[in-house]
Amino acid sequence: MAQVVLENLYKSFQKVKIDGESAGTSSAVLRRINLTVRDGEFMVLVGPSGCGKSTLLRLIAGLETATAGNIWVGDRQVNDLPPNQRDIAMVFQSYALYPHMTVSDNLAFGLRRSVNALAADRNADAPPGETTPAWQNWLVAATRPLPKGWRYMTERERAIAQRVQTVAQMLQIEPLLHRLPKQLSGGQKQRVALGRAMARSPQVFLMDEPLSNLDAKLRTETRAQIVNLQRQLGTTTIYVTHDQTEAMTMGDRIAVLNAGQIQQIATPLELYNRPANRFVAEFIGSPPMNFLPVQVQPPLVIAHPQFRMTLPASWELLLRPYAGRSLILGIRPEHLTLSLPAPKNLPGRIRRIEALGADTFLSVSIHEPGSEEPWLQVRIEPDRAIAPGDEVWLSLMPDKLHLFDPDTGAALLPA
Ligand code: ATP
Repeated sequence: MAQVVLENLYKSFQKVKIDGESAGTSSAVLRRINLTVRDGEFMVLVGPSGCGKSTLLRLIAGLETATAGNIWVGDRQVNDLPPNQRDIAMVFQSYALYPHMTVSDNLAFGLRRSVNALAADRNADAPPGETTPAWQNWLVAATRPLPKGWRYMTERERAIAQRVQTVAQMLQIEPLLHRLPKQLSGGQKQRVALGRAMARSPQVFLMDEPLSNLDAKLRTETRAQIVNLQRQLGTTTIYVTHDQTEAMTMGDRIAVLNAGQIQQIATPLELYNRPANRFVAEFIGSPPMNFLPVQVQPPLVIAHPQFRMTLPASWELLLRPYAGRSLILGIRPEHLTLSLPAPKNLPGRIRRIEALGADTFLSVSIHEPGSEEPWLQVRIEPDRAIAPGDEVWLSLMPDKLHLFDPDTGAALLPA
């Protein structure tokens, strides 16, 4: 196993004209990526479509060349190494199984090709005339007659078959070993694809949206299975997804990417509780965080046309430079509660109710004539007697507020 370090990594693609001639300009897809994935860590790369997640994975795998910067796997700088010398296995969204091979052969394929396959096999591959003990044993054994339908296996083949069996057991696909990919369901194919990556015991797993083709139930099951396997194997893993639930539930840490730049690297709960900027705050959490513009009135008051509230003292130093200026207030749906009329509470009208069973989500519009502010999302307990059109007062939990600079989007983070 090994840590993976990305140092000041840049990638641009040359823009190409329709007729195929280079237009001479290039577009930067990844900009100044610095990321250390610790040995044995499960790192999730998450971000919206087109932000550069797959490109980053392909650079690490060696399927693309970096425009600038360094990639380290363990103590080896791998920038110039071809993919098969990086000791990395990749699992894609499309399972990429060989259709004419059985599951067993698909699992064994990487092992047969692997340059550092099974050290114990070296003796078995020794040419006749060499006198290693394993080779001598094999020669003695090979002279004995075998029952019909049996054949001799080299040590290497035996070790490969054993490894295939172990991996199949771990993934619970032993009954499928003799099937062809076309005889498998989507979930089974994905497990075989995972198994093929695992069989080689690489230093690093790269997974690019491996669960996208599965239905919701199977996704949840396979998600848990991948996490368990990764914990068991302890293989450094970089997992790409655009699904923030996957990111939150699978990653030891998450790197949030937007427009080719890392926005924040943190544990799931750190990201949720202390987002570094408005992008992260909005991207992580479902329904997303609500945002409202407020004016700062020193030392600790924030005012909106519909309410004003005093913040805890820990905000005072952070608010000082914004005296008289505006900030963006962020509040998550679960940190708004239905309350009574009061100046510190926000009046609104229920526009929509979504009852999901365990939770109920309200869309509440704020009483502000001509306001273009979006409706606020509020999470409430399921058994409240309410109806669309009801007037409500929302109370904001003061210790759960987030404030963002309106120009840079950076969060003000109290100690
Ligand atoms: P998705 O979640 O939709 O797969 P992504 O975050 O993985 O998106 P990438 O596939 O890495 O995004 O693509 C990032 C950007 O790089 C996109 O704008 C894409 O069009 C561009 N891009 C990717 N490959 C190439 C290429 N070979 N040539 C030119 N542009 C490319």
